[in-house]
Amino acid sequence: MTERIRDFLRRRRDDGPCLVVDLDVVRENFLAFAHALPDTRVFYAVKANPAPEVLSLLAGLGSCFDAASVAEIEMALAAGATADRISFGNTIKKERDIARAYELGVRLFAVDCTAEVDKVARVAPGARVFCRILFDCAGADWPLSRKFGCDPAMAVEVLEHAHRSGLEAHGVSFHVGSQQRRTQAWDQALKAAASIFRACAERGIALSMVNLGGGFPAKYVKEVPPVETYGRSIFRALRKHFGNAIPETIIEPGRGMVGNAGVIEAEVVLVSKKSEADKLRWVYLDIGKFGGLAETMDEAIRYPIRTPRDGDRVGPCVLAGPTCDSVDVMYEKQPYELPVSLEIGDKLLIEGTGAYTATYSAVAFNGFPPLKTYHI
Ligand SMILES: *Cc1c(COP(=O)(O)O)cnc(C)c1O
Repeated sequence: MTERIRDFLRRRRDDGPCLVVDLDVVRENFLAFAHALPDTRVFYAVKANPAPEVLSLLAGLGSCFDAASVAEIEMALAAGATADRISFGNTIKKERDIARAYELGVRLFAVDCTAEVDKVARVAPGARVFCRILFDCAGADWPLSRKFGCDPAMAVEVLEHAHRSGLEAHGVSFHVGSQQRRTQAWDQALKAAASIFRACAERGIALSMVNLGGGFPAKYVKEVPPVETYGRSIFRALRKHFGNAIPETIIEPGRGMVGNAGVIEAEVVLVSKKSEADKLRWVYLDIGKFGGLAETMDEAIRYPIRTPRDGDRVGPCVLAGPTCDSVDVMYEKQPYELPVSLEIGDKLLIEGTGAYTATYSAVAFNGFPPLKTYHI
């Protein structure tokens, strides 16, 4: 929460939940990444918050962009990024989208199997490709499954296939899992990356880049290490596994770039109990899983919540959204402690909501409009 957001919300007259993002915080985050990893280029993961205000701020600061679709590439271009600063980082692309990206000037593509290499080779001749490897995401609150990446041994084959197909086998990428709280997580992934570099070198292919992915955390209820600690840990791992031949590196922060810059203001619609004797209250807000809080799925992300009654005695609450869908419950397994004095109509502030909220909100499920956003 920043003074600017507080002022904005004091003056706001519109009804309904909204997300307010303080662009000054995004700027500070970019500079902190640049400072913590001075030799690494930043490719902001557009999906975390693709608001034009965020993209043009970052483009102006010199950021590059990790895009997952042609639409995201076009958004980055519209924000002022040149095509050489855009990576098409999705390993699952239609061939016609690769062709379109190539037409727009994009020359850097992610792959994780030979079939994807073939698509790139057909419509993006000479482009650079990096191969994503699987990584077990222990320590991440929002782990990424086995959906992306291949086994390191297979990555060598994929990169050799790319090389033989006339593409530039550029390097290796991984993602240690989003909201990764272990700064050492990169060590193991870099060990695998270094072994791929060696195996490719033996086959006469000189890789030059390691894409360190995202995973840098935002502060939610639990404390997280500062970005400098991640920077030091990554640098140590690079030295350990690559010695003096440290490759070119890039990072793709999403959550860590915008998460702490946003606050959602929500309203209490109902406070009720399931029986008179029940200790547990149900608190229903005007925002839920479909309105932008999708990352409360399995209660993975636990947002800090402020109320106008903070300081009063607290009691356990189930926190739920306003739609008529029973999955629209944010916290139930581990109830949320909120003031017992909380009342219908109270405004709550849900902090750390600058990433993966507005873009996840449904267009009009149950007639609720998508989350309103203000970037100030
Ligand atoms: C989503 C995504 C990111 C961003 O991850 P964060 O954990 O939010 O930093 C980075 N790289 C790729 C390929 C992604 O899909």
